[in-house]
Amino acid sequence: MSREEPPPSAYHLCPGVLHIHTTYSDGTGRVSDVAQAAKRAGLRWIIITDHDDLRAATETGWYDGVAVLAGYEITPERNHYLVCGLDEVIPHTLPPAEYVRLVAEKGGLGFVAHPDEQVTHEYTRPFRWDDWSLRGFTGIELWNYMSEWIERYSRRRRYVNYFFPQLVIKGPTPATLAWWDRLAVEGWRPTGVVGADVHATKVRALGRTWEVFPYERVFRTLTDYLVLDRPLEAEFTAAASQILDALRAGRVIMANRTWGEAAGVRFEAHLPDGRQFTVGDEVPAVAPVTLLVHVPRRAHITLYRNGVPVTRVAGRTTLRMTTHDSGHYRVEARRWGHLWILTNHIHLGEKHER
Ligand SMILES: [Zn+2]
Ligand SMILES: [Zn+2]
Repeated sequence: MSREEPPPSAYHLCPGVLHIHTTYSDGTGRVSDVAQAAKRAGLRWIIITDHDDLRAATETGWYDGVAVLAGYEITPERNHYLVCGLDEVIPHTLPPAEYVRLVAEKGGLGFVAHPDEQVTHEYTRPFRWDDWSLRGFTGIELWNYMSEWIERYSRRRRYVNYFFPQLVIKGPTPATLAWWDRLAVEGWRPTGVVGADVHATKVRALGRTWEVFPYERVFRTLTDYLVLDRPLEAEFTAAASQILDALRAGRVIMANRTWGEAAGVRFEAHLPDGRQFTVGDEVPAVAPVTLLVHVPRRAHITLYRNGVPVTRVAGRTTLRMTTHDSGHYRVEARRWGHLWILTNHIHLGEKHER
């Protein structure tokens, strides 16, 4: 055990991927194929989100250790919205304020999809989220794999994009992160997630058929690690509730596994009386709080408070900081200059005493 090794964690990490298209809309894989790809990629859960279509809900359940849930993507011209936890499809013809309100009212979860897409080329148009003053959603898809890939696509760069996608997948836009941090400071705390938006589209080039990109390949990149109090239940309905509850509560640590597996990643707040808290939690007003970051490989680790960097370490696996300052803390870890891990916030209470 190295000197950096922290005390044992009270939590269970559960990796999964959301924002997935199947043959029920414009994806090329069936639900069972997609589940197998998830299994090979080491995932424990996935959420299928076809365009305005919930037929995948008839195929939910356990697939060889992978919990397969179904939601859908409300897909008008712009303002795409990922929905889960509902058994009805809210029509995309409604204005965004209305579908955001309806999903919440009916008890579903809603995530603003690829809000800051910046496509400027002729192949597609940007699908952006127009009204950044709107409230009432569960969370924001901060980082979307296919959306960022397409953004950086050009005819000249198409082979680089295809064979070295890791060079074009960089991270959430600064505007998206600033928006998310600002909402936390305002006292309203949307969950940050990463999304695959995988379709496994087949294209003809160089005399053969290519998949851009196969499900398994994308599943090995942007991953949402749920931070659970106990492992997933064996009974599917109970496990599905655990997954949705964690997403709702901000119990998510995001990773781009291109730069390393993130199993073992931790961001916790430890109190002197031994209580532990993690991402999404509100830490009660007792002082001092020790924030613990642990990543499974050496990295550049930066701790942010209310969107501003407060401390960083380089080439380490652990960062500790004891603080009296209330605020909304989150972590970014980079390897070789690339964003590897991005956590949700831990909220240190306002009544925090010195
Ligand atoms: Zn979309
Ligand atoms: Zn999509």
